[in-house]
Amino acid sequence: MGATIIDGRAIAARLRARVAERVSALPYKPGLAVVLVGEDPASAIYVRNKDRAATQTGISAQTIRLGPNTPEADLLREVARLNADPAVDAILVQLPLPGQIRARTILEAIDPAKDVDGFHPLNVGRLADGLPTVAPCTPRGVMKLLGACGIDPAGKRALVVGRSAIVGKPTGALLLAADATVTIAHSHTRDLPAECQRAEILIAAVGRAGLIRGDWLSPGVAVIDVGINRLPDGRLAGDVDFDGAAKVAGWITPVPGGVGPMTIACLLENTVDLAEQRRGRSRSL
Ligand code: NDP
Repeated sequence: MGATIIDGRAIAARLRARVAERVSALPYKPGLAVVLVGEDPASAIYVRNKDRAATQTGISAQTIRLGPNTPEADLLREVARLNADPAVDAILVQLPLPGQIRARTILEAIDPAKDVDGFHPLNVGRLADGLPTVAPCTPRGVMKLLGACGIDPAGKRALVVGRSAIVGKPTGALLLAADATVTIAHSHTRDLPAECQRAEILIAAVGRAGLIRGDWLSPGVAVIDVGINRLPDGRLAGDVDFDGAAKVAGWITPVPGGVGPMTIACLLENTVDLAEQRRGRSRSL
């Protein structure tokens, strides 16, 4: 029997509708500021999509565009201005940043209470400690996809392939907080097929098209493919060989249409969470 294909677009649309309902019940508009430095075309598309989705949800979104040669000090000043702006609840600095700017320095300058991506060390630490915090958007989306399929990670063997600060590590932390038995694999992992074979939940976040093959998987595994890879013919593909894996898995996300839409929906939800934490549910500015 083939896997159930997880419809990330539909699940994200439902989440966005719930977020819009929460926003409409607030006596103020949550504010999201997105900072884009430089002209990376993929980043420009992401930022446009985030801005549009936020506006459709009733969030007050602003995009600050800075030139590719912006000095680090100027970006720090911009972040400080947004930190101090009472109408801004959530700040996102789009990565990657140009070479003259240290991403770590910028992420540490964002007010942790406005850190919508959850990349500030304070929020990273809270997540690692299992404390309530704003979780990074893509990992939060991964957990919501599992939840929408009725998959409870508690007690299950979960494998996360990839250990980046943006996806792999925080996804591992969320799965651990949900009581899964978590393994994190990376480029030094000795026998990746054997690790995959053991997994009941497999999260792929590598950035290599088709790395994980169907014949590495156990029957019934839930596969969430975070990878987005551009093939030579222009199509997008995940890190998992979809056709092979769909024959074996119990559930699988497509690429595109799986995790991607959830990332933006979770950004909107994080924005509203931060706004409510800062301003309350009923208190206007
Ligand atoms: P990074 O390049 O930061 O991390 C990739 C990870 O994969 C590293 O930990 C690396 O190991 C590991 N890795 C590389 N080769 C192998 C291998 N052969 N076997 C096992 N592990 C390996 O990528 P990101 O985490 O930022 O992104 C991962 C993918 O997810 C990309 O395709 C990206 O485009 C996509 N993405 C999708 C999002 C969405 O919204 N759907 C959002 C963010 C990312 P090591 O640490 O040892 O180098």
